[in-house]
Amino acid sequence: MQVVVVGGGFGGMASAARLAKLGHAVTLLDRAPALGGALGQLSHEGFTFDTGPSTTLLPAVVRDLFRKSGRPLEREIDLVPVEVIREHRFADGTSLSLTGGSRAAQKQAFEGLGAGLGQQWVDHVDGLGEVWERLRKDYLERPWDPGLAHRDAVALLRSRATLARTFRRAFGDQRLALVAGHPFLADGHDLAKVPAWLGTVSYVEQKFGAWTVEGGLGALGEVMTKRLATRKVDVRTATGVRDVLLSGKRVRGVRTDAGDVEADAVVCATDPHHFPALRPYVRRTTSTSLPTLVHLGVSGDLPEWVAVAGETVLHGDPTLVLRHGGAAPEGHSVLTVQHRGRASVDVVDLLAERGVDLRGRVVTRVERSPADLAEAWGGSPLGTQWRGRDTVRRRLGPTTPVAGLYAAGAHATPGAGLPFTGLSGALVAQAVGPA
Ligand SMILES: Cc1cc2nc3c(=O)[nH]c(=O)nc-3n(C[C@H](O)[C@H](O)[C@H](O)COP(=O)(O)OP(=O)(O)OC[C@H]3O[C@@H](n4cnc5c(N)ncnc54)[C@H](O)[C@@H]3O)c2cc1C
Repeated sequence: MQVVVVGGGFGGMASAARLAKLGHAVTLLDRAPALGGALGQLSHEGFTFDTGPSTTLLPAVVRDLFRKSGRPLEREIDLVPVEVIREHRFADGTSLSLTGGSRAAQKQAFEGLGAGLGQQWVDHVDGLGEVWERLRKDYLERPWDPGLAHRDAVALLRSRATLARTFRRAFGDQRLALVAGHPFLADGHDLAKVPAWLGTVSYVEQKFGAWTVEGGLGALGEVMTKRLATRKVDVRTATGVRDVLLSGKRVRGVRTDAGDVEADAVVCATDPHHFPALRPYVRRTTSTSLPTLVHLGVSGDLPEWVAVAGETVLHGDPTLVLRHGGAAPEGHSVLTVQHRGRASVDVVDLLAERGVDLRGRVVTRVERSPADLAEAWGGSPLGTQWRGRDTVRRRLGPTTPVAGLYAAGAHATPGAGLPFTGLSGALVAQAVGPA
């Protein structure tokens, strides 16, 4: 079958590699000059910054992708565990180091915030293990079919329970809700609109930890690009897709800047709202907004507590999220600061106020507004905005109401992040099937 994949971010690349391995003739189209989407690196004056992800949860998703499409991951790149998944510094001056892979270590860390809070945290996470196992089998690892799914999985997806409500009940302390809610708050979601089952992210963090690549996770994008060449995927960069071509309710190809490309199947692995023919199918969803990113190249080391953490969260108004994925010249460090909304003072001064004083040490700086990022990535790599339980139904993917049209990537998954987008590639491959 001739398959066209639109968008070469991690979701599109994972779909293309798997479909090619299944024997399809795959063409991957991307409007940008290089593949990777948000998974990439920006080089500036000798510094290299991860542009998007700097750590990933669930390394098994990436390993499975490589094993199922050729040589195993460990022969291509080294995924290494991150010691501290996130360092949280709260506005009241208290702090928490969230480690992965150990229930006992998490319990002890939360107990440090106050007597009884360790037990509250592990009770909450323990309850999510079963939810994860149920949804993993029926929803995340095979295309959703309510007829085949266990009744508990159906009930979970139908439930009106939200993260906001769950946290109110589970936690007597707001700081625990800030830790559990962080992945969604950082992506611009309202916890009152995010389904409760997404709390399973805390379980995944505890059980499997976070992982990265020395020198920046963006390198994974390059390794994936090589894998596509090995699988003989016809990759066409600098080729923007303007629309998906339909014949009635069947897909027949795509219209690009360089002309039409016919196909038996099309995988939309970017924001479907951009394509006029698909808008009627995503009318009741919106894309998640993007943050501002400030990449800083600094002389000397970062504070130890920032350097050992995959991510550092300085809570406040605005909350600052720090990542240090990338590479710097000898004697220097890289730091990327993410925030939402307008900061009233310069980010470097804000950092100093919150205990990360880099004043006088910044040797280079690249600031990227939400509009700059949307332009670079052709939409939001953070996917669909949560608006309650119905978002699951209203979003496309892995199959769609159009025959031959599939959806992958952050807009087709339960959330942003490499695990979900990687899994979306596996779901699309299952839905399309072997050649
Ligand atoms: C600042 C930031 C930090 C993040 N940190 C993490 C992290 O630490 N860990 C983690 O797991 N995840 C993280 N994420 C989320 C993760 O990066 C994304 O969810 C994931 O990379 C999305 O992949 P995707 O393939 O769905 O989309 P994208 O990466 O957005 O790729 C879409 C691709 O489609 C192309 N495209 C767009 N429009 C068109 C068109 N019309 N025609 C052709 N091609 C088109 C784009 O050029 C792009 O290459 C982060 C995201 C951001 C923004």
